[in-house]
Amino acid sequence: MQWGVYIHIPFCRQKCFYCDFPSYAGRENLMEAYVEALCQQIKIQGFSYRQKWGRPATVYIGGGTPTALPLENMAQILQTVENFIGAEIAEFTVECNPGTVDAQYLQMLKANGVNRLSFGVQSFDDGLLRRIGRIHNSAEALEAIRLAQEAGFANISLDLIYGLPEQTMEQLQASVGQALNLGVQHISIYGLQVEEGTVFARQQELGKLDLPAEEEAEAMYDYMTNVLPQHGYLRYEVSNFAQRGYESCHNRSYWHDVPYLGLGAAAHSYLEGKRYAAVADIQEYIAGIKAGDEIWKLEEEPTRQHAMEEFAFLALRTVEGLAARDFAQKFQVSLQEIYGETMAKLAQQGLLQVDDNGCRLTNQGFKYGNVVFAEFILD
Ligand code: SF4
Repeated sequence: MQWGVYIHIPFCRQKCFYCDFPSYAGRENLMEAYVEALCQQIKIQGFSYRQKWGRPATVYIGGGTPTALPLENMAQILQTVENFIGAEIAEFTVECNPGTVDAQYLQMLKANGVNRLSFGVQSFDDGLLRRIGRIHNSAEALEAIRLAQEAGFANISLDLIYGLPEQTMEQLQASVGQALNLGVQHISIYGLQVEEGTVFARQQELGKLDLPAEEEAEAMYDYMTNVLPQHGYLRYEVSNFAQRGYESCHNRSYWHDVPYLGLGAAAHSYLEGKRYAAVADIQEYIAGIKAGDEIWKLEEEPTRQHAMEEFAFLALRTVEGLAARDFAQKFQVSLQEIYGETMAKLAQQGLLQVDDNGCRLTNQGFKYGNVVFAEFILD
């Protein structure tokens, strides 16, 4: 059976100004105990699901900043994962922050079965990197990716953000140019969202966050979504572009209803149609694992209606879109019966392409995805 594993590392050197992910700065004193607890969880839960479902297809270590862990701690996790999996798997990703890796660290990842790296670069403009609270500069990002390529990684992704405070189109174009020059295999793009509880949210309240106007941010989106395919990076999901054959299998599984086991504090799991969330507090997680307590909470069980909506939203994020056959198989009712009118309306507005196989977003649909997703909410 196809399934994936997500491992969460909730540490960062410092909190980026836009970030509301479950990650903490200044908790280095907890790293060793966290890694012990995590390895224990991998051994117990990982092995139990492996026995049930066979080897996972993908493993993804994310965060936080996984590479904020000292090399020995990360090696310990990778060796525990290797014992649990037993052999090299098709896609084993580690998220890296350019300010935290050197040649030795990257070689260690490679030697321990990691075959894909995802670098959070965000921009190659030093002023902007400082403005958003990143710990690295542009030269360090370029160097980290060069070192990764030298260490033998042939599947590298990098993230870029557009719509940053005071960001100009020229700055964005320069960053995209740098990314293209690196010859990485995969690029993810995100529009800045100001999330509650972040430094940016506070700056916004104080009137100190100068974001590009809506039209400017839209022009940046248009630029990126046009220029990346021209250079061989094909869009396969709302935010993700890849050279052919380098689409992330792990991320694809989230959008296509594949189960995954989340290990670590704050990790989410999707198992046998149910969603679980682990406790987010690091100390609570460590204590819970040590005591053998339940560290997962079952998230509210979705109604049939919510399950349909979620299935539709996730599939619509991809270029393949929402397949009529998959929908009917899962819910024993036709896609046409549930969403026929919605699909016809969105097709008329040029946001959706509809045929007997199902429906998928048009280019306009990708741009105004939220309008489409809102229409897929069932009353
Ligand atoms: S490095 Fe990543 S997870 Fe950590 S604060 Fe920055 S954006 Fe958030």
